[in-house]
Amino acid sequence: MTDQSTKKYSQRYRSSWESDQRFKGWLQPVQGDGTKARCKICGNSFQAHMKSLIGHSLCKKHVDNTKSSTSKSQGSIINALRPIE
Ligand SMILES: [Zn+2]
Repeated sequence: MTDQSTKKYSQRYRSSWESDQRFKGWLQPVQGDGTKARCKICGNSFQAHMKSLIGHSLCKKHVDNTKSSTSKSQGSIINALRPIE
């Protein structure tokens, strides 16, 4: 009999996540707690699970925050088309 419920995954923060395109620029470890991760843009901390990280990366608040923090001019193409008569 295999009882998998007794087998517990020790989910810990991985610094390799920081180089993931989805988490780059905002993910950081929580000092003193290796089981947690933190978003430095939103200031939220959450479980250091891939699921939680992805969940946060898709959260509307986070998306808005990252948009406003990366205030790079995206070269908006505003062509003022003036009809010449
Ligand atoms: Zn965030």
